Amino acid sequence: MTDAALVLFSGGQDSATCLAWALERFGHVETVGFHYGQRHAAEMDVRGPVRRGVAAALPGGEARLGEDHVIDLAVLGEMSETALTRDAEIAMRDDGLPNTFVPGRNLIFLTFAGALAYRRGCRHIVGGMCETDFSGYPDCRDDTIKAMQLALNLGMDRRFVVHTPLMWLTKAQSWSLAEQLGGGMLVDVIRERTLTCYNGDTETVHDWGMGCGECPACGLRRDGYREYRSASD
Ligand code: ZN
Repeated sequence: MTDAALVLFSGGQDSATCLAWALERFGHVETVGFHYGQRHAAEMDVRGPVRRGVAAALPGGEARLGEDHVIDLAVLGEMSETALTRDAEIAMRDDGLPNTFVPGRNLIFLTFAGALAYRRGCRHIVGGMCETDFSGYPDCRDDTIKAMQLALNLGMDRRFVVHTPLMWLTKAQSWSLAEQLGGGMLVDVIRERTLTCYNGDTETVHDWGMGCGECPACGLRRDGYREYRSASD
C-alpha cells in the first residue's frame, strides 16, 4: 500500500486537521493514539467522534478511513511521575505545562508510529508537529522530524515519508486549512468535537470550542480562531 498513511491522532484540533489533510491525499488512512495516563480521559473519549466527523466532512473520506490503533505507553506516565521528579520539584513552566512533561516525547511517539506503519504497510506518517506556536518543544522542530524520518528509514530499512502539514502554520492558518479541506462542515466538526484544553474541560463551551478558557492551550486556540474569523469576515 504505497499510498497508505498513518496519522498520529490525539483528538485535538491539530491532529484532526492532519487527518483531513491525509484523507484528501491518500487512498487508505489509519490513525494511532498513545495512552500514557495523560491529562484527562476526555482526550481519549473524543477520538471516535472526531474521526467519524472528519471523515464525513471529506468527499469519499469515510471509504478511505481505516483502523484506529491505541498504543499503551503507561511507562511514559511512570517516568514523569518518578524518575523525572526525583531531583526536581513539580512546578508549572512558563508555557503552562508541568515540568514532569517527558522530554523527547515525540521521538518516542514517532518510533512507535514507525513500527506500526511498518507492520501495517503504511508508507506515509502524518503528524501535527508545529514550530510556529510551540517553539518551546525541540521535538516539534522541523529538523528533529527530518532527523527522525532518516533514523526510521535507516533503522527499519523502509522509505517512510513523515509529513507535518502544520509545521509552518499559525493557529489561524490551521483553521483556514481546515476550511479549504472540508469547508464549513469540517471547521464545525473541529470546533465542536476536538479537545485541546490542558485541563480536559468539556463542560465549558465557547465560540472557539470547548475548554477551560484559562490554560495556555485554550488561549492559543481562542486567539487563533478569532484571528481566522476576523480574516474571513
Ligand atoms: Zn483549557
